[in-house]
Amino acid sequence: MKLITPFDPWRGRLCTCPPKYSFSPYRGCGHRCVYCYITSYVPGAFQPRVKEFTILQLEKEVKKLDRSMPVSIANSSDPYTPAEAQNLLMREVLPVLIRNGFKLLIVTKSNLVARDIDILSKGRVCVSITVTTLNGHVAKRLEPFAPPPVSRLRALEALSRAGIPTMIRLDPIIPGVNDDSDTISAILKAAFEAGVRQVTTSTYKAKPDNFKRVLTAFPELEDELKNVYSRGERVGRSTYMAESLRRELILKVREVAEELSMGFASCREGFPELHTAETCDGSHML
Ligand code: SF4
Repeated sequence: MKLITPFDPWRGRLCTCPPKYSFSPYRGCGHRCVYCYITSYVPGAFQPRVKEFTILQLEKEVKKLDRSMPVSIANSSDPYTPAEAQNLLMREVLPVLIRNGFKLLIVTKSNLVARDIDILSKGRVCVSITVTTLNGHVAKRLEPFAPPPVSRLRALEALSRAGIPTMIRLDPIIPGVNDDSDTISAILKAAFEAGVRQVTTSTYKAKPDNFKRVLTAFPELEDELKNVYSRGERVGRSTYMAESLRRELILKVREVAEELSMGFASCREGFPELHTAETCDGSHML
C-alpha cells in the first residue's frame, strides 16, 4: 500500500485545494475534537496508531513522486497527536521529505510542531495551526485533548520568528460557540500578533456522529443547533448550514482579515470569489 497518495478524498465540488500529495504517519487522532469528521470513516478514529512503515520504504517511495507537488501532512489524522511527543516519528519523516526536495504543508492543532523548528526551517514548509477559540474552557469542551489555544499561538509565534510561513485555520465555526464578531476578531488579532499572515476558515459541517458529540458537549446549544442545521443543505455526506448564513459568517472573518491585511480563504464552502489569498492551503507561501 502506498504511504503517500494524491490528495483526493475530499475533492468534492467545493474543494479549492491545488494539486498535492497527502501523507499521514498516524491513523486516528488523540485530540478527540467533538466536531471531528474522521470518526465517520476512520475505524477507531480516537485511538491513534502509528502506520506500519519503515523510513527505508518512505525513502524508496518518494523517489518516484513528482517533486513539484507539495506533500500535505496531514489531512485526516493530526501528525502531532499527543503520542507524537514520545514517538518522535515526525523527526524521522520530515528530513526524508525535505532531503528529497519536497515542499511541505503541515496541518495540526498542536504546539508540538514547534519542537521540530530545527528541521522545518531547513525546508520549504508552511505550517497551519487550527485555532477555534481563545477561551481555554471552551477549547477544553471542543478539543478536549488538544493543547490549549495559548500554546498554539506561542508555537505560531516561534515558527514565524524562525522565518517559517504560518497560517491559522479558524475551523470550524460553530453557531453559538465561536461565530460572534468579537470572538472572530480576537482570534485573528492574536494570530496576526503571532506573525500569521493568512487565515483559512470553514463552517461546521454536521454528520450524525459528530453532531451528537457537539450536542453532548454543548447541551445549552441544542435548540439553536438543531434549528440551524434543520434549515441547512446536504452537501455530500454532510449537512451544511444554509448558504446565506455560511456566507454571512465567512464574510465576518474576511472583514477582520482585511482590516489586518491578512490573506483570507475558506475551505469547502463554495465561495472562492471571496478569497484574497492565492491558495486556501498555503501552497503559494512555499
Ligand atoms: S485534531 Fe483533527 S483529526 Fe484530530 S481529533 Fe481534532 S479534528 Fe479530528
